[in-house]
Amino acid sequence: MARLHNFSAGPAALPEEVLRQAQEELLDWRGSGCSVMEMSHRGKEFMAILAEAEADLRALMGIPAQYKVLFLQGGATQQFAQIPLNLLAGRSADYIVTGSWSEKAFKEAQKIAPSLAQGSSVRLAATTKASHYTRLPVAEEIKLDPFAAYLHVCTNETIHGVEIPAERIADTGVPLVADMSSHILSRPVNVEKFGLIYAGAQKNIGPSGLTLVIIHQDLLGMAPLCAPTLLDYAVQAENGSMLNTPPTFGIYMAGLVFQWLQKEGGLAGIEAVNREKAALIYAAIDDSQGFYTNPVDPDCRSRMNIPFVLARPELDAEFLAEAKTAGLLGLKGHKSVGGMRASIYNAVPLFSVRVLADFMNDFARRKG
Ligand code: PMP
Repeated sequence: MARLHNFSAGPAALPEEVLRQAQEELLDWRGSGCSVMEMSHRGKEFMAILAEAEADLRALMGIPAQYKVLFLQGGATQQFAQIPLNLLAGRSADYIVTGSWSEKAFKEAQKIAPSLAQGSSVRLAATTKASHYTRLPVAEEIKLDPFAAYLHVCTNETIHGVEIPAERIADTGVPLVADMSSHILSRPVNVEKFGLIYAGAQKNIGPSGLTLVIIHQDLLGMAPLCAPTLLDYAVQAENGSMLNTPPTFGIYMAGLVFQWLQKEGGLAGIEAVNREKAALIYAAIDDSQGFYTNPVDPDCRSRMNIPFVLARPELDAEFLAEAKTAGLLGLKGHKSVGGMRASIYNAVPLFSVRVLADFMNDFARRKG
């Protein structure tokens, strides 16, 4: 059976080349006599896999030496709590809410702030909820606290399809904390603009179960004494993400994805392909004379997650059934916004995106 065209939001498509290499190495990793899944995380083989994955990620993203790279578990959702736990320390933090994920991060921080040191609190610096999360806030709407412990943003809202373009990331004088789960590694990024970057792996990095945290060393060591050891970034950094057993197979797969990305020309190389892919789908939507619509402001439309609705929702089921027959998977939109969503992460080939665009154009012609 052939592999189909996968537009899932996550867990999502992985590069076929990477899956084949993992398959080849599955039973006996490079003469070690066992699978990566079966080897000690403290053995020299796995330590080499981890070190290489970190070095390759540092090279791809240009991560300076004063940042630690942590390979953790718990998903991006755990970071919603772990960030205030480590960084709030009796102060206030600002949140900009531009979609469901930054809203969840804000609510989780609100939930745990009262249990942290006295004076710990979170503030809503801006929200675009009233605009149904279809745009970014303009400068006048953002009320920043110059003394905030950090400012939290989600640079790509996976459900609403709102992406903060790199040039709109301004220095506000406080550490910027970014949830990059659904667009990390899709374009070059200036890591130095951020205090902390985090991402669940299951979109652009590898399989689920691995969570990446890139943190400036100045933000280490602020967790309260009562913080669970495992959740203390400083302890994780001191122990090279090896305080307990890390998600070894996920790290190995991430390492293969990093090598694949290098062959694709690094982040600048993959960005060029991602631009082309996104342009094809937005053109299919915008040129459909209203048959399909995407509600997001053109200046912040995501290149990774493209939600769209059909003008006649009674055709939704037919669209999805025909798409499935055409080998197009994972197009059903998130339940909170309805309609469709095409997630076109790094590993979704340009060819698959062409097939989807052709399908959308043809469906609109036949049913419009
Ligand atoms: N943040 C964003 C932007 C996401 O897209 C997701 C998952 N879809 C999460 C956080 C939650 O990630 P996890 O399932 O890894 O906890």
